[in-house]
Amino acid sequence: MCANYEGFFKKFHESIDNCMDDVTKNNFTNLETNSKRVLYLCSLPAIKSYDLRGDIEKSETGGEFPVKKDLEKARKLKDEGNKAVQKGDWAKALQLYSQSMLFVPRKETEELSILYANRSAALNHLEQYEETLSDIKRCLSLGYPRHLRYKVYERKARTLLVLKRNQEAITAFQNTISALDEAEGLNKEKRQKMRTDAKLMLEILNKGLTLAGNPKDPEPLKKTPPKPKLPGKNNAQYPAASEAIQIDFDEKKGRYATATRDIQAGETLLIEKPFSGVLLGEYSKTHCQNCFIKCSIPLPCPNCPNVVFCSEKCSDTAQKTYHNYECQILPLLWKSGCSVTCHIALRMITQNRKEYFNEISANIDDKPTGVYKTNDYRNIYHLVAHEDERTKQDFLHRSQMAVSW
Ligand SMILES: [Zn+2]
Ligand SMILES: [Zn+2]
Repeated sequence: MCANYEGFFKKFHESIDNCMDDVTKNNFTNLETNSKRVLYLCSLPAIKSYDLRGDIEKSETGGEFPVKKDLEKARKLKDEGNKAVQKGDWAKALQLYSQSMLFVPRKETEELSILYANRSAALNHLEQYEETLSDIKRCLSLGYPRHLRYKVYERKARTLLVLKRNQEAITAFQNTISALDEAEGLNKEKRQKMRTDAKLMLEILNKGLTLAGNPKDPEPLKKTPPKPKLPGKNNAQYPAASEAIQIDFDEKKGRYATATRDIQAGETLLIEKPFSGVLLGEYSKTHCQNCFIKCSIPLPCPNCPNVVFCSEKCSDTAQKTYHNYECQILPLLWKSGCSVTCHIALRMITQNRKEYFNEISANIDDKPTGVYKTNDYRNIYHLVAHEDERTKQDFLHRSQMAVSW
């Protein structure tokens, strides 16, 4: 993964290699399956007595990948964000609040709600209005302090005005007026001024809407680009492929495709989501862990400070599947110095629930027939592995990696 990063696996691998005499290596070479290889290595005294935990602990202190949330650090970053606000540097404030969120422990919901409120102010100044509304929604759902709510309701109302969502703005101004009753810290004059302003806005908005015949609010803007589509019909057997190709299998050629009609230059023939993919460690704080897009307004993982998500949808998908298993061990994977291929191999398993594998394990050796499903693990399991062309050193190396995890 990190080409210049030498993890603890290398030391483990070299040390175990040195301990294995020719007989042991020969015994290993004669094994036929991966599970037998891993079991054999696990039984070796050199592996049983190896202090891998010691190596891991040495690499756990400090470094690029902190393992735990850290409230003190979160507060320090938030204070820096507040200082950036005082200087009018909203872009810097946005960045610092986002960084701070990463370190807020799950149970500190109020702290997190304040960060979302602060970030919504930065987003509003940066004219990112849809994002402002999303952060206000998050802040309120996390129990933002009642005596401060008038601020976010007012921000929400003004943001909705910019987006011409006047019906929603009316509700937000009404909420502002109610929330002002609880604004203990606000002096009487300011409170009165805000109340008068909000009431005036309500009057203007209501009049305007009546005159216009009470039109519906425009739909919120969607930024996700439309999904690509195949130009013609889909292949009945391989729905990810176009009907312009036919896919067959032959012992000699393996799986291959032939054209069923003339194909135009540049014509799309296949649109398929990868079965699995992982984000490199160095992008874990800048890109979504689930869909890999760059996140300028990231959402933190509730349980670790190591990854970010672009949306609640991506976060939920990850938390329900692979990140539930990987959350606490990701720094360990990165520090092991394992290759990205090893991490993908793990993700192929963690991205599905345990029940899924319980279900398919009974007939895992039968190649699936019928319509080809891209997300069926058995299709990956039955890919040609070219085991006869791999070296014994390669088998040893990969089995050791499995053992070290
Ligand atoms: Zn995403
Ligand atoms: Zn996590």
